[in-house]
Amino acid sequence: MLNVDKIKDGIVIDHITPGCGYRIFQELELAKLSYNVALLLNVSSQSSGTKDLIKIANVRNLDMTRLGLIDPNLTINIIENEKIKEKLKLAIPEKVLGIMTCKNPRCISNNSDIGKIEFTLMDKDKKLYKCEYCDALTSY
Ligand SMILES: [Zn+2]
Repeated sequence: MLNVDKIKDGIVIDHITPGCGYRIFQELELAKLSYNVALLLNVSSQSSGTKDLIKIANVRNLDMTRLGLIDPNLTINIIENEKIKEKLKLAIPEKVLGIMTCKNPRCISNNSDIGKIEFTLMDKDKKLYKCEYCDALTSY
């Protein structure tokens, strides 16, 4: 096991499905942070095989909607004074504003500038969302 410093304050994203860690790192633009960020891939997990793990110092807020879209099975640990202050379980978001774009090339949202579109979860297992303007299903 690699030795990575414990963080005093910040967030640990735990139980990330292997393979999703790097995607989270990229899509939440964690490389742009000026704080300590550790991305650990394929760490052995007590409960199930391997997992990815991300530690971010000094940060309290993350885009939970985007995290839920990428990997609804992960856990967020809020760290304060080296102790876990709060554990948050994520879930796949029921509504998503922005973030995604409609996959239907004829949808009005792809042909005029109408701002952020709202998507509603239709199929939880396949992570399919319905566009508010047309009936097309889109996944993230
Ligand atoms: Zn659409």
